[in-house]
Amino acid sequence: MTLGLSDVSLRVTGVMVQYFVACERELWFFYHNINLNEFDENVRIGRLIHEKSHSREKKNVVFDDTISIDFIEGGSKPVVFEIKKSSKLEEPVRHQVYYYLWYLKHKKGIETHGVISYPKERKQERIELTEEIECRLEKMFRGISAVIKCDKPPKAIKKPYCRRCSYFEFCWV
Ligand code: SF4
Repeated sequence: MTLGLSDVSLRVTGVMVQYFVACERELWFFYHNINLNEFDENVRIGRLIHEKSHSREKKNVVFDDTISIDFIEGGSKPVVFEIKKSSKLEEPVRHQVYYYLWYLKHKKGIETHGVISYPKERKQERIELTEEIECRLEKMFRGISAVIKCDKPPKAIKKPYCRRCSYFEFCWV
């Protein structure tokens, strides 16, 4: 059985999908507004790269206050772009873009593909939605719902990117 967003009565954003894949504890902090990212140097640098890259396309396209796409290129066959500072969080970012594609297909009737762009690394990756990925995403919605409904954050589990995470001090100091 596959699950849709309506089954979990929850507004799932792209960032929530990214955090769920990267770290469930980070998702919990984020959802409960324990949000230090505004002050995070990595986030600030990431924003600057975004502002200076691809300056001619339509930027920050928001759908239903739910997904916020870095920019969309093209008319009848649009392509969704996500810009990142580095490829260190490759898998979580892939799922964020999968979710954008899923959302556009199921909520807006737009079938498209995505591109993740790493301007500093001069690297791009094409992202396609498959049936298998759709099933995975739809199961994730239940997982996200379960994490955020908990009274306490999930236990900290060491990850390669903990040192760069804005919650590092909460978890490990
Ligand atoms: S420091 Fe590590 S365990 Fe803590 S929220 Fe960040 S990624 Fe998760």
